[in-house]
Parts: sequence; C-alpha cells; structure tokens
Amino acid sequence: MLLLALLLPSVAQAGTAIEGARIWPAPDHTRVVFDTGAGVNHSIFALENPARLVIDIKDASLKADFANLDLGDSPIRRIRSAPRNGRDLRVVLDLEENIKPRSFQLEPNQQYGHRLVVDLIQEGRKTQPEPSRPLLRDDAGEKRDVIVVIDAGHGGEDPGAIGPAGTLEKDVVLSMARTLKSLIDSKPGYKAQLTRTGDYYIDLRSRTLLARKQNADLFVSVHADAFRSSQPSGASVFALSQRGATSETARWLARSENRSDLIGGVGGVSLGDKNDVLAGVLLDLSMTASINASVGVGDYVLRQLGGVTKLHKRGVEQASFAVLKSPDIPSILVEAGFISNHQEERNLRSSAYQRKIATAVFKGIDAYFQNMPPPGTLLAHQKRQGNASNTSQYRVQRGDTLSGVARKLQTSVQELMRYNDLNDDRVLVGQTLQIPTS
Ligand SMILES: [Zn+2]
Repeated sequence: MLLLALLLPSVAQAGTAIEGARIWPAPDHTRVVFDTGAGVNHSIFALENPARLVIDIKDASLKADFANLDLGDSPIRRIRSAPRNGRDLRVVLDLEENIKPRSFQLEPNQQYGHRLVVDLIQEGRKTQPEPSRPLLRDDAGEKRDVIVVIDAGHGGEDPGAIGPAGTLEKDVVLSMARTLKSLIDSKPGYKAQLTRTGDYYIDLRSRTLLARKQNADLFVSVHADAFRSSQPSGASVFALSQRGATSETARWLARSENRSDLIGGVGGVSLGDKNDVLAGVLLDLSMTASINASVGVGDYVLRQLGGVTKLHKRGVEQASFAVLKSPDIPSILVEAGFISNHQEERNLRSSAYQRKIATAVFKGIDAYFQNMPPPGTLLAHQKRQGNASNTSQYRVQRGDTLSGVARKLQTSVQELMRYNDLNDDRVLVGQTLQIPTS
C-alpha cells in the first residue's frame, strides 16, 4: 500500500499545461504572465542571497519554452523549472536584485485564456520624475509650465480593441501619445508626461493618481476603440458625466473601457478603502467644476479634430469613464477613431495620420490654455504682457474688497483673479491690481 501511494503521483498525468509565458517590463516592476488554460492553485516566495523567486503551481506541467522569452529590461537573469512532487511544477526566477512579489490570476480576454500573473515589484524605483510645478512663486520668479499628462490606453496583457487586420489599440495609442508629448514639450510654457512609456499595463486608478502627483493641469487619455459593428467611424472626445451617458456609443465605450482593469490586471487587489462611500460623495462634489472645464477643453480639441478628420459626434460626449475620475484635474478621453472600421484601422496604423491627429489634439489644448491660462504659468504671464496695452492699474484702498473693486471698475472677480494670478479673492491695502480695460 505504501509503495503504491508513493508511486501514484509520478504515474498520474499533471492537470494543467502551462502553454505560454510573457514578460512585460515596466519602469518600477516587471510582470510575468503564464498561460494556465484554467484556474490554478499556486504559491510564491522570494529568497535572498542570491535573489530568487520561487513559483509553485499545483498539478501542472510545462509546455512552454522559457528560452524564447526576452529577459532584457527585466530583473530576471534566468528562468529554471522542474517537476515537483511528481505532479506539480516549480518555476524559479534567478534575479538581479531583491524584489517584492505579488501574484493573482486573470480571466480569459479576447486575446488570452486563463492566466497566472506574477509581478516583481522593484521598490525604490521611480515611475516618473518629480513634479515640476514649484510650490511657491513670486512675480520675479520663474513662470511654471502648463503640465499635461497623456495617457495611452491599455498596454501589456490588455491589447485594447483589435482591428479587423489585427492592429492592436494599445500600440496605436502609445505611438500617438508619444507624438503628442513631443509636440507639447516643444512649445515653451508646456510640459508633458506619459502615464506609460512602453508596453505594460497600469490600472485605471494609478493613471489618474499619476496625474495628481504631477500636479497636472490636464489629463488626456488616448484611445482608438471598436464598436460591435464595423460601421461607426470618426473621432470623438469624451468628458466625464455624473448623470449617465449622452449616447449609446458613449455607454458602450465606457463599459468596454472600464473592463480594462479586469483584462489588464489590477495588481493591488487591496483597493478596499473603508471610506469608499464617503470618498465617493466628496469626489462627486469636487468633480463638478472639473467636468465643466473638461467639456470646455474638449470643445477646443474637437473643433481642431473636425478640421483633419471625420467626427463621430459634433459635440463633446459624456459618459462614466473610470479613467477620467480625477476630482480636480480637467480630463478628456480622445477616441482617435474606430479601429473596428476597415478604413480607419488603415489610417490609425499610418504614422502620418497619427501625427495629424496628435497635432490637432495639441492645437486644441493650446488654444484652450492660451485663452484660459492657469495662474502662475508662463502662458498667463504672456497673456498679461500681451494685454498690457489694454490694462490700467488700481491701488487697493483701506476697506476695499475684490468684489467691490470689480463692481467699481465694471469687471468681474474672476477676471481680476485671472489677470492678477490670484488664488483667492483676498487683497491687501496698497496692492496694485492690473485692470482689463477692453
Ligand atoms: Zn480603448
């Protein structure tokens, strides 16, 4: 009996075949994905000196060839594997540095089946440079840049929409985002940051979080989605809505975009903030203002897009996109076209067309900020200089309030705040205010 019990495991066929593996290096972590064919039982543990990560998968055998994997840009030096206990599989990653591991499983999507995801988190690595907006400023000091965070949708395990000829949305939008960044960076007074700089996935919440960390003045998410039929075509611009979608397409696209985290994988499953309900209420309150600004900047961008391509809808559409939920940063989502439409798929692949779209988006953004420069920016300074011939000055008297001054001089508090880079309506006796006279 004892002998039989010992022999049985080695005779039995292992349950799950690991048929493929992929590696997605990101700036602060590397994601290793195994195609498992079904859900699996697994455990992982890290070892130091030398640094290794051990992945044990129950009832599994290896069909994939790890030798084909490109380990460049990852902390993995070598991947070894061996059967264990007769029917399990042990995979060992030899690492260049100690990492913090994290693992979870992903359901099938349109491109892949069941997957086991192992993240190697390289703590201490920065994803992005420090915010460039100075905390303090004075009139003699430097004028800060307008900061635009550009988000290329999808990435890594999440291909986004797939065109009839096999074009992946994640590739098209990354290339457009890079072009847009270089256009923005080349204009004095602006600075752009990308949420992702390569082919890896970032969860939706981290994308907007990054915009907040960068103190962004604008968040632009770039997409090129599919509809269930190949007919729809044209570019669209979306802003967040609190009251539901403005069209059927908007509803459909919001639904498929919001599924992204399920497809690409939200790593930190512990999003369990206890105060989510309260946070949600506060978020809604503070979001109204930025929704108006979002629709505003969206209008400018849509107008420019209309000059270079067909528009899907004439106005800025609104829907409940998770990626746009940044409470105080105006945020828009640009759909560069429908990748599900044959002609548009061809267009979206061409770098000339990508450049045309990126240029139009940039012109729209620039027109908006030229008109409404955020206080303290070079653009605000330039606008004031340009208007200098049209301004007069007013010295604040004892007992003056900004609204009183505005009434007296037939202008508005908002206008005065804008012309004078004021963050609130407090004024000091003796302070000189620039007054628009036109
Ligand atoms: Zn998309």
